[in-house]
Amino acid sequence: MKVKLINYTPEPEKTVAAAAYTCHSKECAEIDEMNDEKIRKIIRATRSSGHHSVMEHAGFTFAVDGISRACTHQLVRHRIASFSQQSQRYVNLGEPDYVIPETVEKKNETRKTFEKTMKDVWDTYKRLVKNGIPDEDARYVLPNAAKTSIVITMNARELYYFFSLRCCNRAQWEIRDMANKMLKQVKRVAPVLFEEAGPRCKQLGYCPEMESCGLMPRKKDVLKEGK
Ligand SMILES: Cc1cc2nc3c(=O)[nH]c(=O)nc-3n(C[C@H](O)[C@H](O)[C@H](O)COP(=O)(O)OP(=O)(O)OC[C@H]3O[C@@H](n4cnc5c(N)ncnc54)[C@H](O)[C@@H]3O)c2cc1C
Repeated sequence: MKVKLINYTPEPEKTVAAAAYTCHSKECAEIDEMNDEKIRKIIRATRSSGHHSVMEHAGFTFAVDGISRACTHQLVRHRIASFSQQSQRYVNLGEPDYVIPETVEKKNETRKTFEKTMKDVWDTYKRLVKNGIPDEDARYVLPNAAKTSIVITMNARELYYFFSLRCCNRAQWEIRDMANKMLKQVKRVAPVLFEEAGPRCKQLGYCPEMESCGLMPRKKDVLKEGK
């Protein structure tokens, strides 16, 4: 899987800080008056106070290649985001191109069965197209494992939320892998804005999952100690 941050709001932290500062000023904040210290202070204060809407002023766009349709199906459930995905109506998928989960990859016999099934599926797909079935109908035989490409735009607030769910060790491995790659890249361009981003347990100080990965104490244990 290839994940690349291809664009983002110029000076995202300054933009967010200027938006927050404006809320408490007579006029809109001058973006150039924002020095690093001021930006840091404002971003941290708004984050801890819960004034998270100011983060919506910074947007980030990612290009993702080599991801499965199973994964993008989970991804596009995040509604506060914009997506543009490779069309299986307009793009003929030609030769077999799919994601193999590591659990399958590791077992020789299972991998062979998996690969044979993929070959059969693609053979059928190609045969349908050859027999005059339009790509948009032939694609009905294609699997969840089929690789796809997608461009994603999310604002910083939605990214925080997305990371909180999808960077969790309990999240499905492929979307977690993608989320972690996205997180790494936004941290590079906006380190203060995303300094507390990551799985929910990082913000909560405990694990809210039913089955914990063990990284953080369980919610019930933390609450018990607090009594
Ligand atoms: C571990 C895990 C397991 C999952 N398992 C399943 C499953 O088995 N089946 C399944 O169908 N889905 C499953 N999902 C997907 C999940 O139900 C959500 O669709 C997905 O996580 C997107 O979350 P969201 O709707 O909160 O966020 P987004 O769509 O990103 O929205 C962000 C926030 O905006 C607000 N919001 C957005 N739209 C509305 C609205 N219409 N009304 C009110 N508030 C809104 C909410 O506060 C929401 O949390 C799973 C997700 C996870 C992380």
